[in-house]
Amino acid sequence: MADLETFRAETRSWLEANCPDEMRQPVRDEEDVYWGGRKATFKNDAQKAWFDACVAKGYTVPAWPKEYGGAGLSAPEAKILREEMGRINARPPLSSFGIWMLGPALLKFGTEAQKLRFLNEIARGEIRWCQGYSEPGSGSDLVSMQTFGEDKGDHWEVNGQKIWTSYADHADWIFCLVRTDKTNKYQGITFMLFDMESQGVATKPILLISGNSPFCETFFDDVKVPKEYGEGIPAQVGEVNRGWDVAKYLLGHEREMISGADGGDRTSAIGAAMLRQTGELDAVLRAELAMFDVDALAYGAMGEKFLDEMKAGKGHPAQPNMMKYVGTELNKRRHELMMSAGGSTSLEWDSEETGGGKPSRNWLRTKANSIEGGTSEVMLNVVSKRILDLPGA
Ligand SMILES: Cc1cc2nc3c(=O)[nH]c(=O)nc-3n(C[C@H](O)[C@H](O)[C@H](O)COP(=O)(O)OP(=O)(O)OC[C@H]3O[C@@H](n4cnc5c(N)ncnc54)[C@H](O)[C@@H]3O)c2cc1C
Repeated sequence: MADLETFRAETRSWLEANCPDEMRQPVRDEEDVYWGGRKATFKNDAQKAWFDACVAKGYTVPAWPKEYGGAGLSAPEAKILREEMGRINARPPLSSFGIWMLGPALLKFGTEAQKLRFLNEIARGEIRWCQGYSEPGSGSDLVSMQTFGEDKGDHWEVNGQKIWTSYADHADWIFCLVRTDKTNKYQGITFMLFDMESQGVATKPILLISGNSPFCETFFDDVKVPKEYGEGIPAQVGEVNRGWDVAKYLLGHEREMISGADGGDRTSAIGAAMLRQTGELDAVLRAELAMFDVDALAYGAMGEKFLDEMKAGKGHPAQPNMMKYVGTELNKRRHELMMSAGGSTSLEWDSEETGGGKPSRNWLRTKANSIEGGTSEVMLNVVSKRILDLPGA
C-alpha cells in the first residue's frame, strides 16, 4: 500500500510537470485526439508535447511490458494512473485500434518477433491500424465471411471485399480476416496483417447519417500478402486457419473498449452541465436525469469491478458482451437526454452556436454504438446463452 501511495504521489507530480494545460480539457471533436500513423499531424504543440512525454514514459500503453513500448505497470498502478489522469481531465495521448484491439491479440497470440516489432510501433503511434472483419452479408454472422487468400507459395493472393472498415482511408495497415480453407467454416480463417498501400487495396468512404464519413468499403483485388515480414514475423497472427480464435479474443477487447467500462465518460455531472447550457430544467427531465445519473454511477462501479476481476483472471469471458450492451445503451440514453435538455437549438445542423451541429451529429453517431463491434441483440443472445445459461438460447 505504501508503495502504491508513493506511486500515486510520483504520478501526480509527473502529470503536473508533463501534461500541458491544453491537454486537460474534455475531448470535443476528432482532432482533439491524436491517432498516430504515417499520415498523422499534430493539432498543436501541446498535443505533440503530451504525446512525446507519454511515449518516453511508456504511458501510451501503461500496462504493456517495457520491452514492447509500455511502462510495465501492475494492474493497481495502471488504475492509479487512470484515476490521476481522470482527476486532471487529461486527454488520452494516443487513440488507436492498435492499442485497443490488435495489441491485446498480439500479446496473447503473437510470436516474440511480431510483438517486438508491431507492439513497439503501436506504442509509438507509428502505424495506424484498421479492422477488416465485416463483409456485405457477414456482420453478426461473421464466420460466414468470404474474402479469400489463395496460397501462392511465398505469399497469399487475397481477393474480396470488407465493409464498415472504420478509418480505412486513414489507416496504414489492416488486421484482416481472410478465408484460407473453404472446406472448414471455423477452422478455415486466417488472421492476417498487411499494408493498406499494397497494390490492389482500394477504399471507398461511406457517408453516415451524422454527415460524417468515418468508415469505408474496402476492396482487395489480387493483393499479394507476403507470408513473412522477416525472421519470426509471419503475416498471420496465431496459426494459419486458426484465426477465428484470435478474432474472437480481439472482439472481447473491442467490446470492452466500446462499452467505455475502462474509464470512459461516466457523465454523472450531466445535470450540472445541462443546467449551465439551458439555465433551467423541468421536473420530468430532472427526474430522468437523476435516474440516468444513478444508472451511470452503478455502471461505473460495475465496470471497475469487472475490470479488476478480469485483470485478476477471474472474470467471466462473456462479461465484455454484457458491458458492451449496457454501456452503449446508456450512452444512447445520455445523448437523448442532452438533446431534450438542449431544446430546438440542439437540432441545428450548421449553426455557430452548436459548433456546426455537434449535439445532433454526436446524438446520431451514438445510434451506431449498439451496432458496431456486435449489435445489442447479439450481445443479449450471448448473455442469455453464456452467462444466464437460459434454455433454448
Ligand atoms: C460505426 C461503426 C463502425 C464499424 N467499424 C467496423 C470496422 O472497423 N471493421 C469491421 O469489420 N466492421 C465494422 N463495423 C461493422 C459492425 O461490426 C457490424 O455492423 C455489426 O457486426 C452488425 O453486422 P451487420 O451490420 O451486418 O448487421 P446484421 O448482422 O445484418 O444485423 C441486422 C440486424 O439483425 C439483427 N440480428 C442479426 N443476427 C441476429 C440474431 N442471431 N439474433 C437476433 N438478432 C439478430 C441485428 O441485431 C441487427 O439489428 C462497424 C459498424 C458501425 C456501425
